[in-house]
Amino acid sequence: MLLEKRKLGRTNLAVTAIAFGGLPMQRCTIEEAAPVLEAALDAGINFIDTARAYTDSEEKIGRHLSSRRKEYYLGTKSMARDKAQMAKDIDLSLKTMKTDYIDLYQVHNIKNREDLERVMAPGGALEALEQAIAAGKIGFAGVTGHSIEMLIEAVKTEKFSTVQVPFNFIETQAREVLFPLAKRLNVGTIIMKPLGGGQFNNPDVALRFILEHDISTVIPGMDECGYCLPCPAGLDIPTLFIIHLQYTRYNMKTASPLRYQAMPVKASACMACGQCEKRCPYDLPIRERLEQIAADMG
Ligand code: SF4
Repeated sequence: MLLEKRKLGRTNLAVTAIAFGGLPMQRCTIEEAAPVLEAALDAGINFIDTARAYTDSEEKIGRHLSSRRKEYYLGTKSMARDKAQMAKDIDLSLKTMKTDYIDLYQVHNIKNREDLERVMAPGGALEALEQAIAAGKIGFAGVTGHSIEMLIEAVKTEKFSTVQVPFNFIETQAREVLFPLAKRLNVGTIIMKPLGGGQFNNPDVALRFILEHDISTVIPGMDECGYCLPCPAGLDIPTLFIIHLQYTRYNMKTASPLRYQAMPVKASACMACGQCEKRCPYDLPIRERLEQIAADMG
């Protein structure tokens, strides 16, 4: 399936307009994380973003996706403000995610002027990022945060190739100055919190609102997705997909059928109304897949 791709500012990476936010991966077990990550790549998503601070999110990505490393661009971030700690974190991220190259390494959550000054000062985190770029360990340096004012300051330094910022129906401040500035300086814009931290119950509309803006990519947090719900027949579509993936790809020939049998509504109950497909931001052929699940699992 083809997802729209957009240029991530001066990085020139062509990333899918909808990408993968790794924060909620913390809530999955290691086993549950595998089909969620695999399904994202199978759906055509080609940018995965995470952080050192998201507990074991980096580890899950390394464990489950290192064998498919050529299929996606990888972004992560560190709260380090000084050079020594940032250098250590870059090496740790490389090791944890079982890769020798990270496309985008971001300074995580610049909160105030002091934060930014520490990063930019001699001996600050930026020096480690620049050295890692020169050494071929990372591709580009980015910055993230919630303070629009400080992100504007950071983008103005022209030291960062991307800026990651919250933007959604209710948090629209970024479009006043930050988006036009980023556009002018060719800095890629990565949108976090697109669903307002789970407040919006229509993800399709929320994502379409964001994608109408001149931004590079949006990273909804993905654990069990669920954009396609509710189903009038009561199917828990994401869980059925996960069970089926575990069955077919991970050869869980005993545990998956048991889990499937415990589901109150089986795939065969699908009435093929198509409502879920209208809501799915990835245009998945859900009805077709449910038919396959019903055929494979009864
Ligand atoms: S097509 Fe099937 S799974 Fe999708 S909403 Fe309709 S009944 Fe539910």
